[in-house]
Amino acid sequence: MKEHIEEIERRIEEACLRSNRQREEITLVAVTKSISDERTQQFVDENIQHLGENRTEHLVRKVSTVRGEHVKWHFIGNLQSRKVKDIIEDVSVIHSVDRLSVAKQIDKRASKPIDCFVQVNVSGEASKSGLAPNEVEPFLIALQQYPNVHVIGLMTMAPYGASEEELRHYFRSLRQLRDDMRACQFVHAPCTELSMGMSNDFEIAIEEGATYVRIGTALVGSEEEA
Ligand SMILES: *Cc1c(COP(=O)(O)O)cnc(C)c1O
Repeated sequence: MKEHIEEIERRIEEACLRSNRQREEITLVAVTKSISDERTQQFVDENIQHLGENRTEHLVRKVSTVRGEHVKWHFIGNLQSRKVKDIIEDVSVIHSVDRLSVAKQIDKRASKPIDCFVQVNVSGEASKSGLAPNEVEPFLIALQQYPNVHVIGLMTMAPYGASEEELRHYFRSLRQLRDDMRACQFVHAPCTELSMGMSNDFEIAIEEGATYVRIGTALVGSEEEA
């Protein structure tokens, strides 16, 4: 486990060096969705502080079983409006806002602004959730009515099995879109961050400007391997 963490840290640092970036610009979110509460606790004990879950029930359960003063929970999955209330008190960042119905619930249930990413489907794959790139600006404008939805940036998932060239293209288009949205200077949507990069593509994502990487299998493995 320690070796896995060190190995990922080393690869993040090397990607930073190659792209002339600082390690501090990047938040490592350990995606613990496929490991047990016990193993999740072990990563927290190794000072992993950002944890990502994609099921509201799992996040709620782990919030009560995993102990750590500095733990921050990230919700990265498809979020249903009626389940927003279950996680809203415990979540630090929601990476997957792509519908006004969800934004409306976040706004209604939260007692303070919540950091969110708007999910974008840059590859246009039918199976992926997220907005089409040209829908993002009107969506951000519509979000002005929900002041508790504080959009810190854009998130994407690249298609599995894409070539390096395709990955760079997708990550660059998300970065360009983020830059365009940041330039709009929406008060509720500063759009300074980019959540992109998973086990198979996080180094390329960092080279292309990611500020949050969401790493599951390469970092925490899966319960079967434990
Ligand atoms: C599962 C998941 C990840 C992590 O995937 P790995 O390939 O295991 O690193 C990242 N982001 C989202 C949205 C996920 O669902």
